[in-house]
Amino acid sequence: MIIVGNLKMNMSYDEVVTYESKIRELDVIICPSYLYLPIFNQGKYHVCAQNVCEYDNGPYTGEVSASQIKSLGVNYVLIGHSERRHVFNESQPTINHKIIQALKNNLKIIYCVGETWDERNNDKSLAVIHNQITSAFDGLTKEEISNIIIGYEPVWAISDGVHPSAVPDNNQIEEVNNYIKKIIRENHQLSIPVLYGGSVNEKNIDNLLSITSHDGFLVGGASKNIEEFLSIYEKCK
Ligand code: PEP
Repeated sequence: MIIVGNLKMNMSYDEVVTYESKIRELDVIICPSYLYLPIFNQGKYHVCAQNVCEYDNGPYTGEVSASQIKSLGVNYVLIGHSERRHVFNESQPTINHKIIQALKNNLKIIYCVGETWDERNNDKSLAVIHNQITSAFDGLTKEEISNIIIGYEPVWAISDGVHPSAVPDNNQIEEVNNYIKKIIRENHQLSIPVLYGGSVNEKNIDNLLSITSHDGFLVGGASKNIEEFLSIYEKCK
């Protein structure tokens, strides 16, 4: 089971140093801010950047390239997170360029997909997810796609960092997981991991663990609380 902790834009330097010392034995993928990536170099965990620039190295002030991330020994990158799509207006073509940059630099990708509340209410969830996957995977080789993990994160289920949001019913998550797996099986004859993300916490993890169609969890807000993250981890492993 794959457990990803997305620390988002949280914690001071000192807090991150303490946090890192407590997760060294965990088999997780941890996503700190760019700034803190070099701190995560002593554990069993894998390290993942939260974003990547769509361009190669060059005159792009404030951006971080895939080759720079790779040069730190970091092996994963999150692409398509709903906060990037909806707060920073990242379009699907931009996301597709980021995927290409990451693959060119041998980074593994956690590719986030998910529908908004309106899309779900208008019965468009599967169509939206279909488009997010097929447009991102178009032209990629089987080998490239095998370096991608999908994070199914309904936009409406992502917490505000303090309060958990509503979480889909188990059968809604099952339906989307199975649909994602079907698209990738039919289009690429591949099986790649699918994670669920959106307000996962120590209260709902037992219930979410009863879903058999996913391969793990993307934990956002709850991962910054080390005790809660450890408790989720223990239940999953
Ligand atoms: C996330 O950031 O990927 C996420 C799932 O956030 P949260 O768990 O806070 O909803």
